[in-house]
Amino acid sequence: MKRVANTVKPSRDEKRIRFSDAIGRNWFDALSDDLVISILSKISASAKSPSDLIGVMSSCKRMKILGMDLVVLKNASCYAISIPARSWCDQAHQFLCHCIDAGNMEASYILGMIEFYCLGHYARGVDLLARAAQASHPEALYSLAIILFIGSGDISGPDYHHNLDDPAALCAKSSMLGHRDAITEIGHCLWRCANMPHPPDWFHSLLIDEDEIEENGMELEEDVGNTKLSMYHEKQAHPANLFLVEWWRLSDVKSKRESDGLELCSRLCGRRETRSNEFYRCRCNKEFYCSHACQDVHWETEHHATCHLNNE
Ligand SMILES: [Zn+2]
Ligand SMILES: [Zn+2]
Repeated sequence: MKRVANTVKPSRDEKRIRFSDAIGRNWFDALSDDLVISILSKISASAKSPSDLIGVMSSCKRMKILGMDLVVLKNASCYAISIPARSWCDQAHQFLCHCIDAGNMEASYILGMIEFYCLGHYARGVDLLARAAQASHPEALYSLAIILFIGSGDISGPDYHHNLDDPAALCAKSSMLGHRDAITEIGHCLWRCANMPHPPDWFHSLLIDEDEIEENGMELEEDVGNTKLSMYHEKQAHPANLFLVEWWRLSDVKSKRESDGLELCSRLCGRRETRSNEFYRCRCNKEFYCSHACQDVHWETEHHATCHLNNE
């Protein structure tokens, strides 16, 4: 005799309820935390703005909790964790520290730049930049190199981070990772080492990518907090630079310049002198630069048209 399993066949209505649960309200609860974290991690890594991640995290309590998981924070893109200068507060600082503790090197770079240039905590800033540089973060390698090249922040003092590489080595590593300004700066190093009175033929093409300038041009001017930014702030501008620019605008840096004599980089990369006469300057004495790269780009895109030395 055929044995019948001791189960009751679900009715049509019951089936519909189960089916509804499977694709509706309960399916999300059935997913493991690991899987949800993995999805959130991919979203945070590809986010183009903080709202990309915040929008997902706002959808429910579980997303909000899992969105703060260390794996999600570790992989978050620089855009996902960017903070406008106008929103800077203790919580923003703690959030970046939390991301750094999770292993996010973008956060280490952004906070390093803020500590160094905005807050004047040079040793702390250099430590954070060095941490990102050791993880081969191209911007951190380049920023450290130009800090060392011009001796910003008196980092030869007792708080100086002694484990840093030679600035040329940092810059070379950054250029090998494709950092445009680092390539320009290395070009200058080579030119000076070659001890030539005039730049060789290859020099100009190494410094400026003319196609890039033509392509991006002034169309890429961006409006950040009502400040018209120069070409430097193209679509790929790092949030750390945007933060610095906005910070100085909000700090009314013009009056500060009058009181302490410190100049901003004319290319509006956001870097500012940490002592008088620290930056390179154009021979007209009206424009100041944190690096040769900023000087070259600013000359090509703007200053050649206004520098009186060019019109003599
Ligand atoms: Zn600059
Ligand atoms: Zn000039």
